[in-house]
Amino acid sequence: MDSAPGNNLHAIQTELNRLETYRRSIYLGVLILTIAIILLSWAFRENGDAFIAVAYPAFALVLAGLCVALWRRAGSLRTMEIILVATAGAMILSRLAWHFAFSDPLNEHLLLLAGGHYWAVGILIVGGFITLGYRGGMMTGVGTFLFSGALAVHEILSCFLAAGEFCHNWVYLARIHLFLAVLLALTSAGTLIRERTWGAFTRAETLQHWANTDPLCGLSNRRGADRFLSAEAALADRYQRPLTIILIDIDQFKNINDEYGHKVGDSVISGFADILSSTVREVDLAARWGGDEFLVATPGVDLRAARHAAQRCRRAIERAPIAGVPVTVTVGIAEYIPGKGTDDAINRADAMLYRAKAAGRNRVITEACEPA
Ligand code: GH3
Ligand code: MG
Repeated sequence: MDSAPGNNLHAIQTELNRLETYRRSIYLGVLILTIAIILLSWAFRENGDAFIAVAYPAFALVLAGLCVALWRRAGSLRTMEIILVATAGAMILSRLAWHFAFSDPLNEHLLLLAGGHYWAVGILIVGGFITLGYRGGMMTGVGTFLFSGALAVHEILSCFLAAGEFCHNWVYLARIHLFLAVLLALTSAGTLIRERTWGAFTRAETLQHWANTDPLCGLSNRRGADRFLSAEAALADRYQRPLTIILIDIDQFKNINDEYGHKVGDSVISGFADILSSTVREVDLAARWGGDEFLVATPGVDLRAARHAAQRCRRAIERAPIAGVPVTVTVGIAEYIPGKGTDDAINRADAMLYRAKAAGRNRVITEACEPA
């Protein structure tokens, strides 16, 4: 069912907050697993592996600090994501460099490297795209690939220059890097397609929002109101539930413009719209019907209850100036008759508004009731 633009924005904001909480939980889970892996590697390290002995506890501490920061929601999620990828990158790439510097990867350590550490390099490439999106992912992925490639090329060249015994194993390192290149290409293409699709949906959603929204006050415009009213009228026809139409017009608005200027007039319109949208329920419609005239539709509310609410709202407006200007409003109310269409109810509400204006303004008139 169509809802008013204000309600849509609220729903989108709630969904975004929910997604952020979800992402924080995922990162927390991944961090806890990573810390567990680090501690296991540290506990079962080979004798004399100084890197794991010293660097792993330090990385575990940094990641634990990040866990606490995520848990306590300290800092923006984006900052946390950058620190997370940077720490993981520093850990994985420095370990890779260590392998190349202190062992002979083309000889006995190649199996260990290929079977173990290059998985972590692959995860860093994929994780960079998942965490930072296309741009950040490309920077992480290309940087990781180039760093790893440079280490491998340096190792192979040194082996050939020194006429080493195991240089023919270069092909394994080349194969691993081809695999990493495919991983980088696939993940970047997938992320780009996802972001472009998401961007197209967002643009469509934005266009739809502004097509149905009044730019000055942010309420539904007449188009948005028509969509809401047809959907609600269909429900009222089907379930015989009341639907009340309330038309509100600011009194002597031309005088406000003349006396205070057009800008202040605009502020009165948006100030009044703010009061209206904070007064109606989430399921109601508050729309700018045109100029200084507003329409409120209240599904499930009968004429009497709508009249009470409108009367309260009118008194509140009368008491508190809007944008420094004393304002009064006149209100006409009618109830939708099932099967007769919403134009009929709007015309009857308009007739009540006309009567109330003629009777001296600053009052509410409903179809079946006396002026209040
Ligand atoms: P009444 O009590 O009979 O309603 O008197 P009124 O002066 O309010 O008369 P009416 O509703 O016909 O006048 C509406 C005025 O609102 C006319 C127009 O110049 C002004 N207006 C319409 N849209 C805007 C707007 O977006 N900004 C401003 N500042 N004025 C607007
Ligand atoms: Mg008016």
